[in-house]
Amino acid sequence: MHREGPDYKMPRVRLNDEHLFRAFESDGRDDPSLEAELDEEFPLGDGTAEMEAIVSCPYCGEPVTIALDPGGGMVQDYVEDCEVCCQPWRVVVAYRRDGSADVSVQGLDQ
Ligand SMILES: [Zn+2]
Repeated sequence: MHREGPDYKMPRVRLNDEHLFRAFESDGRDDPSLEAELDEEFPLGDGTAEMEAIVSCPYCGEPVTIALDPGGGMVQDYVEDCEVCCQPWRVVVAYRRDGSADVSVQGLDQ
């Protein structure tokens, strides 16, 4: 049970690497062997995983900083709108073993 009295203080939530690493672990629970392998090869816990990337919008050409989610997996493919011109992008993120991210953005109509 959660205590929610006036003396209960929420733990200070920090989006630190340990938090991200645990999020990533939970994603791999369907395949314990794969999870163990990723634990070794994908050093998110070392604090090296990139959290953001700067991309150029394929529509308006503006450089835009987008937030990355290392807990979402080593390869991610999703749609995000440009915050400058609001056109939808297809964003593909691929994390390398060292935690750096290879990010590509293209227009949805391409
Ligand atoms: Zn744009």
